[in-house]
Amino acid sequence: MDTRKILVWFRNDLRLHDNEMLVEAIAKSDRILPVYIFDPDFSGTEVSDGNHAGPCRQRFLLESVQALRESFQRFQGDLLIVSGQPEICIPELVEQYDIAEVYHHREVSNKETADSSSVEDHLWKLKVNLRHFIGHTLYNKEDLPFPIKDIPDVFGQFKKKTERDAMVKECLAVPEKISFVEVESWGEMPAIPECPEEIIHGGEAAGIMKLEEMLRADSPVHAKINRSQAGKSDFSTHLSPYLATGCLSPRKVYWAIKNTLEGKAATPVLSAILQGLLLRDFFRFMLKKHGVNFYTEKLEHLQAESDPQVYVQLLENWKTGKTGHVIVDGFMRNLNKSGQISNAGRILVATYLVHVLKISWIEGVLYFEQKLLDYSPASNWGNWANIASGAVEPKAKNLYDLDKQLKMLNLEAQV
Ligand SMILES: Cc1cc2nc3c(=O)[nH]c(=O)nc-3n(C[C@H](O)[C@H](O)[C@H](O)COP(=O)(O)OP(=O)(O)OC[C@H]3O[C@@H](n4cnc5c(N)ncnc54)[C@H](O)[C@@H]3O)c2cc1C
Repeated sequence: MDTRKILVWFRNDLRLHDNEMLVEAIAKSDRILPVYIFDPDFSGTEVSDGNHAGPCRQRFLLESVQALRESFQRFQGDLLIVSGQPEICIPELVEQYDIAEVYHHREVSNKETADSSSVEDHLWKLKVNLRHFIGHTLYNKEDLPFPIKDIPDVFGQFKKKTERDAMVKECLAVPEKISFVEVESWGEMPAIPECPEEIIHGGEAAGIMKLEEMLRADSPVHAKINRSQAGKSDFSTHLSPYLATGCLSPRKVYWAIKNTLEGKAATPVLSAILQGLLLRDFFRFMLKKHGVNFYTEKLEHLQAESDPQVYVQLLENWKTGKTGHVIVDGFMRNLNKSGQISNAGRILVATYLVHVLKISWIEGVLYFEQKLLDYSPASNWGNWANIASGAVEPKAKNLYDLDKQLKMLNLEAQV
């Protein structure tokens, strides 16, 4: 009797909970082959549009992939680890293991959508289908009250209509049983690089633990935010690296908060997180709607420091935390050590780079790509573009005034 096998290609979806792609693959096959592909460029030092990660981000990702491996091992299976170009590796695996279909999650960034198209083209030659799933957002695009092309470009309008007219789906449970394709060697994980500082640990279980910790009323996050106004404080729940790698699904975070509230109104910290989840969706939908050229073309004429030598030195000072501005330098040094920086810290250092030093915002995008544990193309490009737009959109100007930001954070005395 024929055995139907499905290859499940994991990327930024490193979890068993709320994973429609995995649930469907198990339901539609006799056996699955879960695969993670390391891009040989991912640990490269060259900064470009590619997926380049510094040691902290590499470490967090490797721990998250390893955790997924161990989850599958508890089901008497494993995660196949491969290194190479997806369009080469996947068709080879399809032929080697006689795979009937390949499942993966749809992405929005240039690199990842190009990878998907290329894999799809190569599979087409083998007459094998690449099935796309949506699993990165709180709202699936078909649940929104507008088609992608009509999504408002203003977050406030998107939020108002979406919260009024769309529903967040329930989370899917962790599968109870998984049957795996027989594999002789499941492959070796790349070595985990040294990090200058102890960073938070990656993985689904670590993410769920962080979420549960954050929801406890005595958590330090609550104490910090409740002393000041929501969204205006330098606080962090540290959920974003787990959301960026897919160790946590946004719906899991949403429903955990809603269940904790039991119908009561959200506290400032919880409504700030719910708003963050919606912003995250918004930037993904904006990238899908416009592509990255939308931002780069609109903002390419920003005033920039004209002396190339000065430009390079100013940029280097910013990256290494040696600008002489105590607060900016503190945030940048911490980012370099730990891969983490609060939202308020990001706005501050980005404002300083773009509006004070007059350096191209793209330099900031690329540097954050290397350093951030939670790097995610849509959120990174979207937030940087917003800050850069302060120079061209008068309404945004106030928001990106450095002195006002320091005042809001009660940090002006330290400068
Ligand atoms: C210049 C700049 C670059 C940024 N780059 C990234 C990035 O690469 N990846 C990333 O995940 N976030 C990015 N952000 C958004 C935001 O700073 C982080 O998501 C936030 O600091 C994460 O902290 P948290 O987990 O405590 O957030 P919480 O307050 O707990 O919010 C819950 C979740 O909502 C999402 N979220 C919150 N605020 C935003 C926002 N402004 N935009 C998008 N999503 C948001 C995050 O996934 C976050 O984990 C950037 C912001 C700026 C100003």
